[in-house]
Amino acid sequence: MKSYFRHRPVNESFEDPCLFVAIARQKRALLFDAGDLHRLAQTELYKVSDLFVTHMHIDHFIGFDTLLRAILRRPAPLRIYGPQGIIEAINGKLRGYTWNLIRSYPLKMEVFEITAFKKNMTNGQIRHCSFHAENGLKPVDRGCNDFDGYVLKEPFFSVKALNISHGIPVLAYRIDEEVHINIDKAKLVERDIETGPWLSEFKEAILKNDRERTFRAGNKIVSFEEVEDIAMLTEGQRISYVMDVSLERENIESIVDFVKGSDYLYIEAFFLEKDMELAGERNHLTARLAGEIARRAGVKNLIPLHFSLRYKEQPELIIEEAMKAFSGKD
Ligand SMILES: [Zn+2]
Ligand SMILES: [Zn+2]
Repeated sequence: MKSYFRHRPVNESFEDPCLFVAIARQKRALLFDAGDLHRLAQTELYKVSDLFVTHMHIDHFIGFDTLLRAILRRPAPLRIYGPQGIIEAINGKLRGYTWNLIRSYPLKMEVFEITAFKKNMTNGQIRHCSFHAENGLKPVDRGCNDFDGYVLKEPFFSVKALNISHGIPVLAYRIDEEVHINIDKAKLVERDIETGPWLSEFKEAILKNDRERTFRAGNKIVSFEEVEDIAMLTEGQRISYVMDVSLERENIESIVDFVKGSDYLYIEAFFLEKDMELAGERNHLTARLAGEIARRAGVKNLIPLHFSLRYKEQPELIIEEAMKAFSGKD
């Protein structure tokens, strides 16, 4: 299945978990968690428009400085999403440096903190705080809104966040690609219509059902109706990222629901089933539970990540345990 997204974990399974998602044909990427980011090229870091933080444990957040360093002179803003405490955590990082020489830089960071998911409350709150170079990266509160589950909504995709627990508040994330649109280039050739940037506008018009639009294809103007049949629609992909989760039943059930039908699920598999007691104490999943979540949610591809170093010599044990539970052959 074609997708707008090219996704890969940044690091090995025993290292800091992060997911890099490049968006095809746009000089843009999404980054899930900011652990050690040194494996990403400067050009890749420069493309990150949105950073989705699950929580601020050091293995998920130490790379924030690396990202900041790479985008310091970038005109495009960086949006950052995170759980309760993210605004204070970003402010704390920024206050660790001296910023007297950057007021002319275009750098703008917009931080969104998702809070107040209480039991029996369907909606939480999303607070927006800006950190702009022109203000010396001091926090400027932009107020609070009700949170409807979406942290990002764009014509081609959306990202949702789910508040879960790891002893502390943690967010799980899910990317939903809208219907994927393939263009039948042979039909364009038959009709002597050039390809070009208008195809992106055309796709956007399809998603918005904006049938009145016209497009400039080379030196021709084409109407929506004229080219409607060159678009073939297939269902978009769903990619989920779930890190650091405690074992409570309520947590597990809400994750199964949230990641339902994912084409790809990146999920922590920190402990083996035999170390369940430790998993309980440290608020982490076991490989088996990760596999069971994926199976129950009807996930197509399971990618277990974030293994405890205690299994450094036997990573295959974790993968086998997760995959066995995933296939239901327990
Ligand atoms: Zn953690
Ligand atoms: Zn972790």
